[in-house]
Amino acid sequence: MKNNRQSIFLRQSEVATYCRNQNIKIKHLPNGVLIILGSQNNPESVSASLNFTFSSGAYFDPPSKAGIHHLLEHLINPPISKLAANLHVSINAQTSYANLIELCNGPFSSKVKNYGLLPLLSHIYESLMNPSALYENLEETLSAERHVIRTEIEEKLVDHNWLVWKKFYNLYLKKGNPILTDVAGTIDTLNNVTKKDISRLIQEVLVSDNLVISAVNEGHEKNGEILFNKLINVFRRFRKSKNKKAQLDWNLLDLTKSFDSKSGQVHYVSTGLHNGLVSILFSFELSVEEFSVFEFGLKNYVDYLMPRVHQFSRQYGLGYYSSVSTERLAKKGIIVIRFDVVKKSKSELEQIINFIQKNLPTIFFLSKTEISTIVQTEKNKQIVIPLTTMARIQWMLFGYFRYKKFINADYVKKTYADINDKHIEFWSKKLHREKALITVIGDVS
Ligand SMILES: [Zn+2]
Repeated sequence: MKNNRQSIFLRQSEVATYCRNQNIKIKHLPNGVLIILGSQNNPESVSASLNFTFSSGAYFDPPSKAGIHHLLEHLINPPISKLAANLHVSINAQTSYANLIELCNGPFSSKVKNYGLLPLLSHIYESLMNPSALYENLEETLSAERHVIRTEIEEKLVDHNWLVWKKFYNLYLKKGNPILTDVAGTIDTLNNVTKKDISRLIQEVLVSDNLVISAVNEGHEKNGEILFNKLINVFRRFRKSKNKKAQLDWNLLDLTKSFDSKSGQVHYVSTGLHNGLVSILFSFELSVEEFSVFEFGLKNYVDYLMPRVHQFSRQYGLGYYSSVSTERLAKKGIIVIRFDVVKKSKSELEQIINFIQKNLPTIFFLSKTEISTIVQTEKNKQIVIPLTTMARIQWMLFGYFRYKKFINADYVKKTYADINDKHIEFWSKKLHREKALITVIGDVS
């Protein structure tokens, strides 16, 4: 058995004690709804935020009705948006390949019954239970929302940045990987969606054992307790599913290199847009262990690299935009360094790529002084903000959604404290220029 201190996940038997110590409340209702609440206990604040996450998303759209989850999401907020605005609660919703999420932020005070989140909760419940029942003319609403989505689709199709990542993932991920899911669908597939399809989806997706409610109460702990109990009372009545919904298999999200990554070999991909923009991406693949163990240092590391990349980019007139980003793709992660340039000839692009490649070690190499600055920053963070409640809850949920396990924040803290010279060694080996996958995406022909 692995020593738990070395594990990023908690054992089931440790969850209760751990949450007590971390001031996190977890309740699994008999109908299957999971409620998680963290309190910041700040007497100055009466703010709270609620996320209602249903674990089903566009990946499960029938291909002929692609976009149906997204269309359903568009139905949730209109019936309650006026009331929410009057109560000073901001609401939003989003769909991904994996989830449908309703987000609410606003004041919560048990003492004020007619303001903020408290009086809105029962309305959120109604809308999540059956949004389609709250429209006088559902057919009309559906066609209006199809129109809204059409605009969203059109905007994306001319968005260089969106296309770059879309092409990048298409090249990098195995076919059928859920991340490649087109959340919005097309106008044709949306037109195929009927009222009946929507009611069926509501019965299948907006169900209790699909629902995780994560709440952060910034204010007094007592207030948080009241919010927690209120959520339990309202959502214990939420509909149970009749048949078991297919769960996303996170193993499907494994990255598979679909192209040769030998150094010097450059992959050109056209976005089909003639906007004169070309993005050059250098990417490095990380295993989940590398990503998890070094993640917190990695974020900081990347923050440190960003100004260098900008400076490098400006100094050599490489482009108008540059960035360094990291992404955890379920079981793996990537770090991508990107330069956007105004269209050049192929030979000019190759010169630029050679130049960047030659200089990558300089960009990535941090001196001992710089590393110790990062270590110090990380350590100070740990003392000054001992992992905010919001972040803690996000970690808990991250682990829960992907691995059905809870993340051990103590372990995360320990990795902060452990950042040291080993990082220099690790990253200088890992981010070696020979290991970079090079892609050129944009107005290339
Ligand atoms: Zn939308």
